[in-house]
Order: sequence, then structure tokens, then C-alpha cells
Amino acid sequence: VTSPQGRFDAAALLDGELLEDTEAFGKHLMYRFSGERWVHIHLGLFGKIRTVHTPVDTPRETVRLRLSTDQWFTDLVGAPRCAMIGPDERATLLERLGPDPLRPEADPHEAWTRIARSRQPVAALLMNQQVVAGVGNVFRAEVLFRSGLNPFVEGRALPQDGWNALWEDLRRLMRAGVRANRIVSTRPEHRERRRGRARRSDATYVYGRTDEPCRVCGTLIRRTDLMGRRLYWCPSCQ
Ligand SMILES: [Zn+2]
Repeated sequence: VTSPQGRFDAAALLDGELLEDTEAFGKHLMYRFSGERWVHIHLGLFGKIRTVHTPVDTPRETVRLRLSTDQWFTDLVGAPRCAMIGPDERATLLERLGPDPLRPEADPHEAWTRIARSRQPVAALLMNQQVVAGVGNVFRAEVLFRSGLNPFVEGRALPQDGWNALWEDLRRLMRAGVRANRIVSTRPEHRERRRGRARRSDATYVYGRTDEPCRVCGTLIRRTDLMGRRLYWCPSCQ
């Protein structure tokens, strides 16, 4: 464990220790080292992790954290958060996070109790990490479209079976995203090219498609800003 950039002080403490596991809770990544020590990472908007299988090269100065063996190395750059934490800090962090659709033990009901009493629009609730963990801007827009839900519906107006269906779809989409390492939310029959791998221009229903015709009904896709993030939707389907 090293910090070529010098900004991860705990590198010296962890160097040579056993890396026992890696974990992800929503957007929080953790390397678990022996002795109940974790490296807590949040990539923010610009952070990147790159893993390379030998040969180990000389790291660039911007590398905050490097893990290396004689077979591979992993570099972390641009992350707003990279720090060593103990069990207490980890527990506090996890308490503040809503269920993560990618985790098998996640309980959608936990999110539902917050959604059902909220006056916030469902589009804002989906991005609130205390309600649901790990949903980013693309998944938010796409899952709302696929559910035919108006993004501005208040949480408390959403029926519980509507939430359960939304959760199941989030699960499906996010798992597919992990497998493919990209986000494709369109069904083949709604793509310009229906066969084969979805092209980039065919990957989403609404995200990034302002003023383009809806793939289902032809209405122009709209965009607005909601709490500092761009929100896309079809005013007719949703
Ligand atoms: Zn539409």
C-alpha cells in the first residue's frame, strides 16, 4: 500500500497487511484490512479506480492510493474521499445509508417508510442516499421512465406496490449495469438497431435525450434541474 501523491497518510500503516475483502454500500467502497481497518473510498464525480495486471509501472503523481502485489496493481485517482476508518466510523456511515438495490440483504421496506411520509418528489428521493443508496442520475431517470412514473409525484402519493415494482426494476437495471460495466436500459424493440449489442445512442430512454423524440410515444423528451442535477423525462409516458 502506497500513496504516490502523499495524501493518504495511513498507507504506511497498512502496507504489508492482509487485504481480507472488498465491499460496496451504495457509492461507498471499502477495502477491509486485517485488524478491523477499512480504507473508505468515495469516487464522487471524477474519481477513478484502475486495476492493471503486471508489469507494475511507476505511478503518476496524481495517484492517491496504490495497492500492488507482484501480479497486479490498483490505482485510485481523483477521489474526494480516501481514508482509513475503524468499526465505529464504518457503522455510523452505514447507519446513514438507505438500502442498496445491489446488495442481496437490502430491504426495500426500509426505503418505503421514508418515501411514504415525504412531500419531496420521487425523483429527489431516489437520489437521496439516506433513502436509497447507490442510485445515480442515469438510473434515476431511466427507472422512472420504465415505471411510467411522473418524476414530480410526491413520495407520499406513491402507492406501495408502485414502489416495490420500482425497486425490483432498479435491482434488475443496476445488476445488468454491473455485469456489462455500462448502463443499457432500453428494450431491444425500442432501439434504432434492434439486434446485437445496444449502441451508445440507443442505451437510454430519456437520459441525455433532451428534445429528442420519446422511443415509445414520439413526444419530445424534456429536461429540468432538480436539486442541482439534470432530470430527464417524457411528459406523455410519465
Ligand atoms: Zn413517451
